[in-house]
Amino acid sequence: MPLIPASVETYLIGSLSTSDLMAGLLLIGVGLLVFSLTIVRKLTKELPQGANRSRWSLLGIMILSFICGYLGFFTLNLGVSYTAPEMLVAVVFFFGAVFVLLVCLLAYRTTQELKRIYVLEHETVTDPLLGIFNRRFLDRRIQEEVLRAQRHRLDLSLLMVDIDNFKQVNDTWGHQAGDLVLQHLSQLLEMDLRQTDILARFGGEEFVILLPHTPEQDAFKLAEKLRRAVEQTPLHRIPELRVTISIGTSSLLPDGDDAHSLLERADKSMYRAKREGRNRVVSYHNNGFAEYGEDCP
Ligand code: GH3
Ligand code: MG
Ligand code: MG
Repeated sequence: MPLIPASVETYLIGSLSTSDLMAGLLLIGVGLLVFSLTIVRKLTKELPQGANRSRWSLLGIMILSFICGYLGFFTLNLGVSYTAPEMLVAVVFFFGAVFVLLVCLLAYRTTQELKRIYVLEHETVTDPLLGIFNRRFLDRRIQEEVLRAQRHRLDLSLLMVDIDNFKQVNDTWGHQAGDLVLQHLSQLLEMDLRQTDILARFGGEEFVILLPHTPEQDAFKLAEKLRRAVEQTPLHRIPELRVTISIGTSSLLPDGDDAHSLLERADKSMYRAKREGRNRVVSYHNNGFAEYGEDCP
């Protein structure tokens, strides 16, 4: 007894036999799998080397073996009528291919969407000129780090860095040279930091470095190291152009402190460094300022 009554079959598909229809479904299934394979290839190319990429490659190989299976089944039944179970297999094969294609498409589109979100998120927290974090990101992180340090009774210090006489640099060498100085400085500062430290552009030519797990003395030392590095390292593109920086440091107090006060104290120290003659590090203590200039040990 045929799976579909002859009258219905004739009405639905005219002169096509059920076997033709099943063969057609199989070939469309193969087409869908080939398309899925191209999507998997695209996805694999975009992934970095690693376990995930290997897994997607493995999935590609599995799809390829399915294609061989489909073609084998198609060839075996070429020119002969499909029995009812064979028709069922052909239909299941077809929907299997639709399923594989949908999963691959969905995975690919989701990856693209996540990439887009990542780029947007990255842009909102990055300074376009220097490629380091911006003020928006810093404000968020300071709050988080202060809370973390207070909760676990950890050290936390902050450096406020400002270029000395930067207006003069712009006036003498031009704004583009000024931009180069900013890039040079952000690279220099970044070089001496740990992975957990956060360097951000605070404003025009001001930078903030947030130093988790760093006590006051270590913050002084690092600030002084950075000051010297800037003083001694000429600009690669304009070696005659030398700049210096002034740094104010502050550290989280054991009780009743907050992000705003931490920043404010570093800012006060930095302005004190300016008043004391620039190219120096000043640290804010509870009981006054400590200064570290060119003669710092
Ligand atoms: P001080 O030693 O007291 O800090 O003097 P200063 O001249 O560095 O300080 P001031 O704050 O008066 O000048 C900062 C200058 O930084 C003014 C502004 O034109 C310049 N500036 C801010 N952002 C940028 C930038 O993105 N590129 C360049 N080239 N210059 C910038
Ligand atoms: Mg300045
Ligand atoms: Mg300034």
